[in-house]
Amino acid sequence: MSIFLEATATCGTCGNQAQVDLAASVNAARRPDLRTAILDGSFQAEVCAQCGGQMRLPAHLTYLDVKRGQWILVQTAEALENWQEEETEARKIFEQNFGAAAPKPSREIGADLVPRLVFGWPALREKLICSDLAVDDTTLELLKMSVMRNVAGAPIADQTELRLVGGEGDTLNFAWITTASEAPLFGLAVPREVYDDIASEPEVWAALRADFAGRMFVDLKRLVAG
Ligand SMILES: [Zn+2]
Repeated sequence: MSIFLEATATCGTCGNQAQVDLAASVNAARRPDLRTAILDGSFQAEVCAQCGGQMRLPAHLTYLDVKRGQWILVQTAEALENWQEEETEARKIFEQNFGAAAPKPSREIGADLVPRLVFGWPALREKLICSDLAVDDTTLELLKMSVMRNVAGAPIADQTELRLVGGEGDTLNFAWITTASEAPLFGLAVPREVYDDIASEPEVWAALRADFAGRMFVDLKRLVAG
């Protein structure tokens, strides 16, 4: 089931308030349209009736896709500063719903789910794109690390994030995004070969990979934030 709660949204431009349905939980197997909306950026993107400004609602939901084996707790980008506590909480929520404390049918579903914690919409979208492109999300973070080291002028500021935004054939497409506004700064195409090289050299990347092993917050930001 996909659960919606009624909430009040405030326009960032004019202060107009409106009642909106806020997603508390998305079941992608039953509502593939919601998955599509997350990917194209239209999910929870309300337009202000008064001024036409953006009324995008803060990210705070659980995302379940049994078919693709994904369970993702989505928190706001602002919550990143407390990622350690959020990760502990996410683990607890997953265990209650699909872990040892859950009824048997739920535990059986849980056995095939990879639990993740993300902060903000671009981070959620990235996990969905990973699934579509058969990209391992840990290897992806190692690839980003490599990109940041090798691209001159890469913005490594706290206010930006490098996100996988798509791909075709031999190319993975990334964008540097301003975290607060989600506005892309610039795009970057990386040959998929670079990803494949990292995947095929486990010993070279073992130490960094260990930082993500068994974690729910699989994101470079865990190495730089807090
Ligand atoms: Zn407005």
